[in-house]
Amino acid sequence: MKEQAMKRLMTLDHKYLWHPFTQMKDWMEDEAVIIERGRGEFLYDLQGRAYLDGVSSLWVTVHGHGRPEINQAVKDQVDRISHSTLLGLANPASIELAARLAEISPPGLKRTFYSDAGATAVEIALKMAFQYCRQTGSPQRKRFAALNLAYHGDTIGAVSVGGMDLFHTAYRPLLFETVRLPSPYCYRCELEKDPSDCGLACAAAAEKILDREGPTLAALIIEPLVQGAAGMITQPEGYLRRLAAACRRHGVLLIADEVAVGFGRTGTMFACTQEQVAPDLLCLGKGLSGGYLPLAATMTTEEVFNGFLGEYDEFKTFFHGHTFTGNPVACAAGLASLDLFVKDETLKNLQPKIQRLADGLKPISELEHVGQVRQRGFMVGIELVEDKETRKPYPPGLRIGHQVILEARRRGVILRPLGDVLILMPPLAIAPENLDKIVEIAQASIRAVTRG
Ligand code: PMP
Repeated sequence: MKEQAMKRLMTLDHKYLWHPFTQMKDWMEDEAVIIERGRGEFLYDLQGRAYLDGVSSLWVTVHGHGRPEINQAVKDQVDRISHSTLLGLANPASIELAARLAEISPPGLKRTFYSDAGATAVEIALKMAFQYCRQTGSPQRKRFAALNLAYHGDTIGAVSVGGMDLFHTAYRPLLFETVRLPSPYCYRCELEKDPSDCGLACAAAAEKILDREGPTLAALIIEPLVQGAAGMITQPEGYLRRLAAACRRHGVLLIADEVAVGFGRTGTMFACTQEQVAPDLLCLGKGLSGGYLPLAATMTTEEVFNGFLGEYDEFKTFFHGHTFTGNPVACAAGLASLDLFVKDETLKNLQPKIQRLADGLKPISELEHVGQVRQRGFMVGIELVEDKETRKPYPPGLRIGHQVILEARRRGVILRPLGDVLILMPPLAIAPENLDKIVEIAQASIRAVTRG
């Protein structure tokens, strides 16, 4: 594209856009990379420069960009119709996808309620759990339990169960009160235990809180196996299972927020199954459409669903919906993505790449300013620290994570940090040699910025 045309877009961006989670003062001082197209694990900017997509375009891309099978399914659907409503009408793609989701999701989850973002999937789960309790003889169950450092999206309900001070503190006066459980953040244990012999003290602490608060809780919401936005905090084995068992004992519904970990990210289709946990509600988003279109779902059991059945004038209806709920184009992409999981044997082919990634990360963990490398499947967090010995973080003003991703970008890899935790989350279908390249460039960029 001509230099002049690019400058024009850049100027318009600076003039008219407000980017998410972005200090716009900084943004407007920088030159933006404008992505025009993508193929496989590559993104191309307006000047035709190629970048490896090291974070799956914010954790969504599963089979790569521009897969002909998904593109075709979308085109076919657009040729028939782009949108019709699920309020009072049905459409084939949303029906087919719901049936497929029931087949592949953890046992017991049968019903799908669609929306269009991870946050709305969470919002729906919270309202469903609350209303279910109200309508099935437990109106005293009004509260939710959630983990410290949790991230469930940016709507007010999702922020209420969120536990990341940086994102959430400003809104506290607007939020409902939530029962907080310690985060299993072993590198910086909030209970000050030694993870090698603590016997899962954080799970024990959560059990104790549930013993006390259980009777007033509608649900516990958790990101299974990995607290993503907090910096890929990986949970110790057995942690999720213990919390799920505690929920069962106390009649507390379990909401698994698999918006980030779902669709193969942790090595299995859903993260819960690695701990033999079947939640009462499951939130899905991001990879649900293969990462092509905004699509989210809240799945639940027949038991919860039945709590909403009744005569019209009993008003047990779930009074919730979004304009684009069950959009057929997004659902068609979702169906094509699930077909590709089968055709490409995505999960089988992922296993050796997970090991390869682990091998590639070993030298990174040796670097002087890398405090911890955390990996679960294809989700990686590299925590950068000023002092490895004392685990002292860098002063936030240095924006070390941001400096590293700018360096990686110059070397042809797109990454995005969470504070000073560098995130690697490539598309599941990435070619092994490109996976190596992302890891090598991450390492070189950390070295260049931290000089160690
Ligand atoms: N839940 C989790 C676990 C997430 O990681 C995210 C987004 N990163 C969300 C919910 C919110 O999803 P969305 O941005 O699509 O609203």
